[in-house]
Amino acid sequence: MNSKNYDVAIIGLGAMGSASAYHLARRGLRVIGFDRHSPPHDQGSSHGETRIIREAYAEGVAYVKIVQRAYELWAELEEESGRDLYLQTGGMMFGSDGSDMIAGAETSAVTHNLTFEKLSMDEVRHRYKIFNPDVDMTAIFDPRSGILYPESCVEAHLELAKRHGAELLFGQPAVSWDSNSDSVTVRTENGAYTAQFLILAAGSWLPQLLNGLEVPLQVERQVLMWYEPTANQELFRPENCPIFIWDTGPGIHFYGFPDLGTGVKVARMHFGDTATPENLRRDADADDDAPVRSFLEHFMPDVPGKLLSSQVCMFTNTPDEHFLIDLHPEYGNVVIASPCSGHGFKFASAMGEILADLATTGKSNFDISMFGLDRFDNINEQEIS
Ligand SMILES: Cc1cc2nc3c(=O)[nH]c(=O)nc-3n(C[C@H](O)[C@H](O)[C@H](O)COP(=O)(O)OP(=O)(O)OC[C@H]3O[C@@H](n4cnc5c(N)ncnc54)[C@H](O)[C@@H]3O)c2cc1C
Repeated sequence: MNSKNYDVAIIGLGAMGSASAYHLARRGLRVIGFDRHSPPHDQGSSHGETRIIREAYAEGVAYVKIVQRAYELWAELEEESGRDLYLQTGGMMFGSDGSDMIAGAETSAVTHNLTFEKLSMDEVRHRYKIFNPDVDMTAIFDPRSGILYPESCVEAHLELAKRHGAELLFGQPAVSWDSNSDSVTVRTENGAYTAQFLILAAGSWLPQLLNGLEVPLQVERQVLMWYEPTANQELFRPENCPIFIWDTGPGIHFYGFPDLGTGVKVARMHFGDTATPENLRRDADADDDAPVRSFLEHFMPDVPGKLLSSQVCMFTNTPDEHFLIDLHPEYGNVVIASPCSGHGFKFASAMGEILADLATTGKSNFDISMFGLDRFDNINEQEIS
């Protein structure tokens, strides 16, 4: 048993765990963190060069205040770490007028009085030669949208957490934990560590660490593709090309990024097989390329040239695709943190603050009730995988 007693232990030091370690250590708390790999790494959910951040949030008005806090904290992190973490490109969202993407983004923008533009397809074509929307589509331009560099974000949080005194153990999976009302003990192959509070931020490995609690989390394979444009290469550079999201039919979403020198990155959202971190197929093939290429041929015809590279990553999904953040129902000193369902990265800086608040005061300044476990109460046990 490690004789030192910590204030907070964190299992998983990816996007959410690294941010939590930073916020807690910055407040002077004694923090111990564990990761099975050496983050940033390419085995979980936080790799692949870029992540979208956007403010006019289509998934719900409740996310806007959290993402606004996240923008502030990313800027502070840039300042404190001296790194470039965010690139503002603006964002184009395409879809039919009543689609989830367009109606949702517009509702969030109007509710929170955000600056945005609603563009006709003629205006889109005039402004951006690279997009070829259908005539009956609508577009929303969100000027604060842009790119986060996930590996640098994780590295910055970890580096500064250490500088503020956190002890971070890499290559050391937590094999078990238990809790009583006074403390929590985390065990690795190298020892046991005691803390007052535990944050479970193990991403796609989280279901294995819930000590018997059944939660309807599902891990999904997600493939990222980088293409060499066949024409108008300079129009895909970030100064000319915003991030883009296309809602081409109910539940069919494609998204992508300008060319940062590695090609135009594009992916189809929620199209992958159910997986586990252990059985995930980590290479991409023609079946992954085909639907993305066919979408591009129609809507962004200058993009689908040579496939330059691909990467495979994991989503950890809830049934309603909202985050899961709640105290473990049996242990008031353990918080379960799964802000994913494929859209969590942009919030990581704010999630670190929220999780640090939960660990120290038991509550958050944000209304996080919609991320609670009780919404799964009526889900049939057979749906839990
Ligand atoms: C391909 C892809 C594209 C995405 N695009 C976007 C986007 O554009 N915008 C956006 O906002 N979000 C996006 N997301 C979602 C976002 O990336 C995730 O919500 C976020 O990365 C989740 O972070 P996490 O900390 O939960 O998981 P991770 O960053 O994977 O961290 C979990 C960590 O836990 C560690 N771990 C696991 N088990 C143990 C154990 N037993 N002991 C110790 N450590 C352990 C792992 O090694 C890992 O480092 C995307 C996700 C993917 C996969």
